[in-house]
Amino acid sequence: MRNYEIKTDLHTHTLASTHAYSTLEENCRGAFANGLEGINMSDHGPSMPDAPYEGHFSNMRILPEYIHGIKVWKGAEANIVDYEGRIDLTEHTLGRLECIVASFHEQTFKAGTVEQHTNAYMQALKNPKIHILGHSGTAQYPYDHDTVIKEAARLGKAIELNEATFHVRPSSIANCRKIIAKCKKYGAFISVDSDAHFSAFVGVYDCARKLLDELDFPQELIINRNAETVSKWLKELAAASEN
Ligand SMILES: [Zn+2]
Ligand SMILES: [Zn+2]
Repeated sequence: MRNYEIKTDLHTHTLASTHAYSTLEENCRGAFANGLEGINMSDHGPSMPDAPYEGHFSNMRILPEYIHGIKVWKGAEANIVDYEGRIDLTEHTLGRLECIVASFHEQTFKAGTVEQHTNAYMQALKNPKIHILGHSGTAQYPYDHDTVIKEAARLGKAIELNEATFHVRPSSIANCRKIIAKCKKYGAFISVDSDAHFSAFVGVYDCARKLLDELDFPQELIINRNAETVSKWLKELAAASEN
């Protein structure tokens, strides 16, 4: 099997999302033990029932840049809440955050038509504060893969390959395979993330690695290869949004 370099994890939960079970320090120790260089702290945006309030996110700037040897980006897994791709964090808070994963969740997003899901993703991609579309293979939210993935490629945004999907959303695996194959076809970045809810699983990508290998996925399209590729990418996206 090909030995892909994936030394960061841009989608992790702490116990600030109460259906997750580790602290930020524990996640950093877990990340270090699993050979990572950096993690994005991405708890659920405030509209999820288990989420912290907005101040959790706007106050994250008090955290150190490195914790237990791990670079920590201050982020969120924002909820896309409507078919216009709006998310549940204010501009003020978003201005203080570094890396935003935007996802559909059944608690905060009503399943609609393929066109409505596609439009929500297209609008979300236009938002300069959104960097990654999270677990987009979720079976109840089909969308037009070609349209959305081409646009992600054009804008330099990332589509997520989510390890947790293989364990908790098995009905979505076939979709994930199709989506990642389209990312290869259109040259879109992917972010390989654990979506870990416990520290031992931060940076563990056993099923995702197998899929990448099967698809002979190009290493250079994995945006979270290491801390440097992530920091450079975030800087480039920020600069592009100012032009
Ligand atoms: Zn999620
Ligand atoms: Zn998550």
